[in-house]
Amino acid sequence: MSFMQPQSQTSRQTKATSAPRHSNIRNMLNLVLFGAPGSGKGTQSARLIDEFGLHHISTGEVLRDHINRETELGKIAQKYISEGQLIPDDLMISILEDVLEKNAEGKEGVIFDGFPRTIPQAEALKELLRKRGTDLHAVVGLEVPEEELVERMLNRGKETGRADDNLDTIKKRLDVYHNQTSPLRDYYTKDGIYLMINGSGVVDDIFNDIADKIEKTTGNKRKKK
Ligand code: AMP
Repeated sequence: MSFMQPQSQTSRQTKATSAPRHSNIRNMLNLVLFGAPGSGKGTQSARLIDEFGLHHISTGEVLRDHINRETELGKIAQKYISEGQLIPDDLMISILEDVLEKNAEGKEGVIFDGFPRTIPQAEALKELLRKRGTDLHAVVGLEVPEEELVERMLNRGKETGRADDNLDTIKKRLDVYHNQTSPLRDYYTKDGIYLMINGSGVVDDIFNDIADKIEKTTGNKRKKK
């Protein structure tokens, strides 16, 4: 897999000095889509991958695929997911490493959707990217009030039949988010790469806000406006 740094850098210019440059890929862009469950990560990634030419890695989708195929990993994942708990870090990190190895070739970067969810996962991601001569360039933080999150997930549960979108599990997932995942907001703010996005409102408007902020902070351009 080949990675390189974006050409135009602002605040992160000083942080990414050790990464080698590869001239075969233009403006590599690695993003994390961050937010509570129900904040619209899946919806927004669909357009981001299209307009910025990115490869999409959703750890939730990877796990649901294992559950559907009834693999050994699927059986383990099912227990955690149905309880609204996180898959243990060691296991989740090795799954991510595997997916990253197999899938990111030839794209202009990766959008990580649902990973990292803990500080150790964030540290592991940094290291995985560093080993590949690249870095994380922006963390898109979708911020949505809690009542709206619950309503959205209940609706999604009715529409798609997603098993963990029931009120009991939703409450547990939100607790887990507050306790284990939300500290990453500060972590990435300190790193200078957190982009705060108001995730309430019209999907297109939210996308435009995200795309504008990515363009401004990374120098990468979307394909159409
Ligand atoms: P998602 O589709 O991202 O909402 O993920 C659904 C469920 O998969 C979560 O509630 C967790 O149980 C599990 N999961 C997904 N990504 C991770 C991760 N990075 N770390 C631990 N568990 C995860």
